[in-house]
Amino acid sequence: MEEWQRELQASLTKPEDLARELGIDPDAVRSVMKEYRVRITPQMLKLIKEKGNPIWKQVVPEAVEGYDLLAASDPLNEDGDSPVPHLVHRYPDRVLLMVTNQCPIYCRFCTRKRLVGKPGFISKGDLDLAVDYIKNHPEVRDIILSGGDPLLLTDDHLERVLKALRAIPHLEIIRIGSRVPGSLPSRITESFCAMIKKYHPIYMNLHFNHPDEITPEVKEACERLADAGVPLGSQTVLLKGINDDPEVMKRLMQKLLMCRVKPYYLYQADLTRGTNHFRTTVEEGLTIIKAIQGHTSGMAVPHYVIDAPGGGGKIPLLPADYLVDLNSQEAVLKNYENRVFRYPQAEPEKVSTTTQQSNGPFKILNNGGDE
Ligand SMILES: *Cc1c(COP(=O)(O)O)cnc(C)c1O
Ligand code: SF4
Repeated sequence: MEEWQRELQASLTKPEDLARELGIDPDAVRSVMKEYRVRITPQMLKLIKEKGNPIWKQVVPEAVEGYDLLAASDPLNEDGDSPVPHLVHRYPDRVLLMVTNQCPIYCRFCTRKRLVGKPGFISKGDLDLAVDYIKNHPEVRDIILSGGDPLLLTDDHLERVLKALRAIPHLEIIRIGSRVPGSLPSRITESFCAMIKKYHPIYMNLHFNHPDEITPEVKEACERLADAGVPLGSQTVLLKGINDDPEVMKRLMQKLLMCRVKPYYLYQADLTRGTNHFRTTVEEGLTIIKAIQGHTSGMAVPHYVIDAPGGGGKIPLLPADYLVDLNSQEAVLKNYENRVFRYPQAEPEKVSTTTQQSNGPFKILNNGGDE
């Protein structure tokens, strides 16, 4: 057994573990824990220094999860977009493959709360079905390995998956979504990195929600991945009482950049059953984007998106006041300091290109504008 597997085994998983380590009344969470599994790795436990801190809220179960029965268990209708088991094909040129339901920690706000925690990893037969599907769909050029957390597969198992995918000629990039570097950093071993780099281009999007998650061990795990040539992005969920604060979010994004992780998505919380107590308003997300854009490195700004309920995909949102007005004459713009600027529109008859300069400025207009 590898060191990371021992660490995973030492995680808190039972009501009695929570009682012993965190002083929780085990009977208050017993029924919720039957429905929604708990796992708190030693790395995350170390960060829970006081009751109700931002790490605690992400991983410690609460009875309230069991009361919220109105919301859907599959709010993005992933099951409806699944042509073969574990595969979601929603966008034209990319698919998402859930290779396990196991995670290093079970986030209380998880969109896949209906699935995560169930035992097992993708079987050979199901992997073959997914690979066949992609082979028969030449338009698919990008795959996201997801779950659960793909980095809980052993190196050998993950390598079998990667090898099978790399045998598909039209599959250009492979992405892996993972919360492992932030919650079980010892899993990012040198031998894992040596394996992964054989299958480039592999991108990873790492899940982080709070700057305190970025400890020296976590930073080193990210650095090992970056040194293996894996471009790193991040995904963050906007969560009430955890990171719904512009300063906290800005600090998180800045710390990610220090780990060579480029902030990718900031998600509005989904309408998932058992997670309603984490939702914020959309205005709060827009306020956070306004507090980051222009005020610090542009590299630190994630795309703020809502994954459309029912399965419409991710829709990006920008604060509406950047574009005060847009008409045929001009764009009226507001910058990060709330100063207003005017950008005059290009007029078709004034357009000229360097290649056609000798023909005079009206050449393009004379040819008509819309070929
Ligand atoms: C998020 C997601 C993707 C990837 O979307 P990108 O915007 O390309 O990162 C693909 N498929 C599904 C089902 C998704 O939820
Ligand atoms: S690691 Fe990801 S998939 Fe797993 S419980 Fe957390 S949010 Fe859900």
